[in-house]
Amino acid sequence: MKRVILIKYGELSTKKGNRNFFINTLYQNISGKLRDFDVSIYKDRSRMYIEFHDYDLNAIQKKLDCIFGIHMYHIAYLVDTNIDAIKRLLIELIDDLNFSTFKVEVKRSDKSFPIHSQEMNHVLGGVVLKHKDNISVDVHHPELLIKVEIREGHSYIYFNAYQGAGGYPIGTQPRGMLMLSGGIDSPVAGYLSMKRGIPIDCVYFEAIPHTSLEARNKVIELSKKLAKYTNEIHLHIVNFTKIQEEIYKNCHPNYCITIMRRMMYRIMEKLANKYHGLAIINGESVGQVASQTLTSMSVINEVTNMPVLRPVSCFDKLEIIDLAKRIGTYDISILPYEDCCTVFVPKHPVINPSLEQAKKEEEKFDFPSMLEEAVETVDTIVVVEEEDNFSDLL
Ligand code: ATP
Ligand code: MG
Repeated sequence: MKRVILIKYGELSTKKGNRNFFINTLYQNISGKLRDFDVSIYKDRSRMYIEFHDYDLNAIQKKLDCIFGIHMYHIAYLVDTNIDAIKRLLIELIDDLNFSTFKVEVKRSDKSFPIHSQEMNHVLGGVVLKHKDNISVDVHHPELLIKVEIREGHSYIYFNAYQGAGGYPIGTQPRGMLMLSGGIDSPVAGYLSMKRGIPIDCVYFEAIPHTSLEARNKVIELSKKLAKYTNEIHLHIVNFTKIQEEIYKNCHPNYCITIMRRMMYRIMEKLANKYHGLAIINGESVGQVASQTLTSMSVINEVTNMPVLRPVSCFDKLEIIDLAKRIGTYDISILPYEDCCTVFVPKHPVINPSLEQAKKEEEKFDFPSMLEEAVETVDTIVVVEEEDNFSDLL
């Protein structure tokens, strides 16, 4: 019996004018993710179909579960669109199944097929009742839901539904630059922005020797987790040591974090211009720390006109943690190595900074050339997804 994976687009179907662009992007993303498998992929306006070898199914499903733009998918049995063939396959399929109640749901997309959906429900329901003993129809809570899709040429019978990753296909928006620290929040922000279709580059500010190589490795590991949702991620590592030392040497301690973040935003904007990004993305969450009050955010944000996306800005910490656990970044994030924000934390960071004061603090040292240097000396690592089953192969 031949099976295919039948993919439903979900949210995509609301995109009228852009529909083809969305579908084509999803098609490319799926083809890219499944490049190592011997599969054939077909698409039409409402579905995508993947023909596969049975021995690859588990591995293919693992990949599909991380592709945004897939709302739901089914492993469906394929049959010619012909009433007798459909009946024959249905009998064959239910033969091995144990159930006491069922329901048939037919969707007839091929309007030239002579039997209407409602009538077809009865016809196929009758076939099932005749073939199995001690079973009955339950339209509200059936033990077995038999779905039949009648399409031109081919029809599909399936019993299962797998939840997809949802969202929009990556690549349906321009690139965004994610500020990726070793914390809990920023990987979640990266995941959520990719889910909106934004391809991301990651940027990590490091301050060696004040921060360790372990802290850098943590960020690389986090990037690998994010790369699962795309093919590869460019991680740009900014040498932030000199700027950070200058800030702490020259500025009032209470303003150090504010100034440090203004410098980060400036560098982010420059990196976005260099790598064709149209937005800065970070893991700021309103009220979480002194630099994330609305007053702080407005003073920090003042250095750039670029959109700053803060996907977790209105989430509770527990909600962020929940999501971090689901996407597998939490255990890495809680490893103890400190990053450049944590090593320089002053005793009393200002909660309501004034823009005027921030600008005065910045006049105390010559930073523009340091920003240029930081951008020019960026170290870029290409990070690819880590194969989950790697250790199984050893
Ligand atoms: P936590 O999860 O513990 O809050 P965090 O990474 O969110 O950690 P914050 O100090 O709250 O740390 O920083 C807010 C945001 O600023 C981060 O989510 C991240 O996007 C960005 N950021 C902070 N430090 C760095 C860094 N060293 N490199 C890149 N981005 C950083
Ligand atoms: Mg945070």
